Amino acid sequence: MAPTTTTFTIIIIGGGIAGLAAAIALARKGHKVTVFEANTSLSELGAGIQIQPNATRVLHHWGLQDEFRKWSNEPAVMKVLQYADSTVIGEIAHNPMQIWEYGYPHWQCYRPDLQRLLYDAAVAAGADVRFGQKVADVDVDQGIVVLADGKREEADLVVAADGILSKFRHLLPGNSDAKAVTCNEYCFRTVVPKERMDSNPETAELMKGEDSMVWVGPGVAVLGYTVSGGRYYNTLISCPTPCEVPVGRWGEPGDVGEARELVKDFCPAVRKIWSYVNETVLWTLGEVPRIASYTSTTGRFVLVGDGAHAIVPHAGQGGGSALEDAAALGEFVSAARDVRDLASKMQMFQDFRQPRMEYMRTMARGNQTFMSLDDGDEQMKRDKMWGKMTAKWKAELAELGEEGFRARPRPRAIPGKDIRSPESRQYMIGTKLMSKTLSFLGHSLILSLFCLQAMMSSQRRRGSLMLMLSV
Ligand SMILES: Cc1cc2nc3c(=O)[nH]c(=O)nc-3n(C[C@H](O)[C@H](O)[C@H](O)COP(=O)(O)OP(=O)(O)OC[C@H]3O[C@@H](n4cnc5c(N)ncnc54)[C@H](O)[C@@H]3O)c2cc1C
Repeated sequence: MAPTTTTFTIIIIGGGIAGLAAAIALARKGHKVTVFEANTSLSELGAGIQIQPNATRVLHHWGLQDEFRKWSNEPAVMKVLQYADSTVIGEIAHNPMQIWEYGYPHWQCYRPDLQRLLYDAAVAAGADVRFGQKVADVDVDQGIVVLADGKREEADLVVAADGILSKFRHLLPGNSDAKAVTCNEYCFRTVVPKERMDSNPETAELMKGEDSMVWVGPGVAVLGYTVSGGRYYNTLISCPTPCEVPVGRWGEPGDVGEARELVKDFCPAVRKIWSYVNETVLWTLGEVPRIASYTSTTGRFVLVGDGAHAIVPHAGQGGGSALEDAAALGEFVSAARDVRDLASKMQMFQDFRQPRMEYMRTMARGNQTFMSLDDGDEQMKRDKMWGKMTAKWKAELAELGEEGFRARPRPRAIPGKDIRSPESRQYMIGTKLMSKTLSFLGHSLILSLFCLQAMMSSQRRRGSLMLMLSV
């Protein structure tokens, strides 16, 4: 990849998914990147995380697909199952249908794997990732970072990727009241090793293939899928009610007995899975409602990932949106001519990313209660909808075959009111992130001038614009 013409020194606060992905995007452009991560090593915490085609597109663009695929699972479908008897209510097509429709696969990952792979790629791209380095303070206008041991570090740009409980978000204009809020929903999460799952024919069956399952019951839904290339079965019990665990805690131990009680009326396979569990984590879902600023007035500080826009996980886009942020940030930073120009480019980054993230939030919230409706009219309507939807795509596939299916005209990518419409899904999953960046740029006079200048400036810059078009 052609390095940018202006090379900035960049500090990234936080080595989670957003921080490490931003390190890859920026280091690949030739910037000098240092990541400060508070933990003393890569975190072993976390369970399953979905990476949908809008985000696997980014990993492919970085050339990381083969290594990541070894540690990911590629489900053919997500089966929606009746909680008590495992009757199939519907099947949501994932792979290869999503590859045909959106160009890239849908993956299930184990968060520690994802973090390790991103770390390896960031280091390979030239980033300096330092553990045990907690950032205590930041001057958001000057690009100065103060570490917990009192040491000061300066950079042209500070990128805060410090998660949902970001310590620095409130320092930005208009954000003084911006806080993470709980969403009256909690989950028990765990992963079960393959050997345990294989010890019983019923659960061993779930380890075959890579499909994901969601058992939908009144007030409770159970999700299950293989991760880590089939090394573990990820499972989660989700309840749309409040819980005492504060938002942003990732390792809070949960009571296994309480978790089992929640699934006591579920089918034997679900009960069996949870009978294997010795340890579980309680996770309170939360989000960061729309904030006023992602960036400081000087553009020397910018927020990415959950710190800027945490959403509930029902759209499966928490990690994916962090990857999107990183890829977009790489382009906007590299379009800046000098440090002063960062102010306008970081504002553009916010203007580009925030509307999309707010739409993702609507989508994620819309799915919140859908999976755990009480038995009754609404639940029957929902189940019918899934059945019809499944019959429709299966009939279409049978009639058209792969070639015909691929050749179908795609719906336009429009973030519509109906979050489940083909247009809304195309917008969410099929968007070409970087060509979107360019059309976004085209709508602004200043940016049109920038494009013209960029196109005329050098061969390198031309290369970078072509890249923006192609991702
Ligand atoms: C331990 C953990 C487990 C998770 N498990 C899951 C899961 O199983 N499924 C799922 O869908 N999502 C999970 N998530 C959330 C998911 O990673 C995020 O929604 C998404 O990937 C966006 O991540 P992020 O990088 O913005 O924030 P995070 O993933 O929260 O990463 C933030 C990073 O910043 C570091 N940090 C914070 N403050 C400072 C500071 N002052 N100085 C230096 N470093 C700092 C933190 O240690 C952390 O590594 C988990 C997050 C964490 C932190």
